[in-house]
Amino acid sequence: MSFPLADPQVRPATPAEARVDLAAIQHNVAVLREHARGAELMATVKADGYGHGMAEAAQAALRGGATRLGTAFVREALALRAAGIDVPVLAWVITPGEPLDEAAEQGIELSAGAAWVLEEIAAAAARTGRTVGVHLKADTGMSRGGATAAEWPDLVDLALARQAEGLIRVAGLWSHFACADEPGHPSIAAQQAAFADAVQVAEKAGVRGAIRHLSNSAATLSLPEVAYDMVRPGIAVYGLSPIPQLGDFGLRPAMTLTARLAIAKRVPAGSGVSYGHLYVTPRETTLGLVPLGYADGILRHATNLAEVLVGGARHRIAGRVCMDQFMVDVGDTEVQVGDEVVLFGPGDDGEPTCQEWADSLGTITYEIVTRIGARVPRVYSGVNT
Ligand SMILES: *Cc1c(COP(=O)(O)O)cnc(C)c1O
Repeated sequence: MSFPLADPQVRPATPAEARVDLAAIQHNVAVLREHARGAELMATVKADGYGHGMAEAAQAALRGGATRLGTAFVREALALRAAGIDVPVLAWVITPGEPLDEAAEQGIELSAGAAWVLEEIAAAAARTGRTVGVHLKADTGMSRGGATAAEWPDLVDLALARQAEGLIRVAGLWSHFACADEPGHPSIAAQQAAFADAVQVAEKAGVRGAIRHLSNSAATLSLPEVAYDMVRPGIAVYGLSPIPQLGDFGLRPAMTLTARLAIAKRVPAGSGVSYGHLYVTPRETTLGLVPLGYADGILRHATNLAEVLVGGARHRIAGRVCMDQFMVDVGDTEVQVGDEVVLFGPGDDGEPTCQEWADSLGTITYEIVTRIGARVPRVYSGVNT
């Protein structure tokens, strides 16, 4: 058996694959655009495209009709440029000492929610001779990034002053929802009103032509009326529902995580399995060894909880998830070394979905896909659609 090696020198791959269907990403962006009522779509591709591979996911999203890309960090945005992607890119988590000169030179747009960020951006603009597009971020009630209502007028005035000097251009006005995945949560209407106020303050102060954007995936799909000029979905681009209790919205999960059984063996009743013997076989049974572990993003918490598809049926993880491997109790199902194991996928062939994994682990799909480790090669399909 031979296994793909992502980069055999520095990054040996595990005998497992995260298969990524790029046609699904393209489809999902088209679905999101229908909800966005003509607004632009910025595909959020931070965290390596939510674990799917940033550049590949970005290209697929652009094929689906995205016109812009969003990242958390400047270095992620620069990696998109290095991959040859030249559409507008916004990076929104700026910390002291980032490579802002390079960002300016590469035409990366930057978020500013505090005066010191604006001044660092303006300084980079002055050094490089480039005018940097800045999206001013209002904290409308999440209390994470962004200027509070009290700070906002001064931030806007400072931005307009730096704009008058030719250093920056106020390219956007934006904010982020705290509870858009809980339709009807009272904070949603409050944040909408606070954002409308922030936009009004900025426009009264003289901001013109800035794109206004507020909606993550959950808001894009459940609140089309707040799409403003652009929506900024992430998780839904990858086909995972931002509001699972409302269904899948016609999205298609892009990732299928697979491995091949490395061992299949009969053991007697009463066999303690894996570290700590947290699973003891209730009868004579067949155990299979799956070569993926917590170093690959299979949460140790999945011990005795999550299910996988192998031998045509679902079977539960048996005992502790180790760093590089876990065991599965397949009962009397006929399995052999080399048989495919599907941890999760779209669910078409009876495999668990990422949503089921998240539910059984008490987490969200975001955490499952973004944790798939660097050892797991991403294998792409659906490129020529
Ligand atoms: C991650 C992120 C998004 C995308 O959120 P999803 O819930 O994945 O759609 C949008 N905007 C900001 C500021 C983010 O941090």
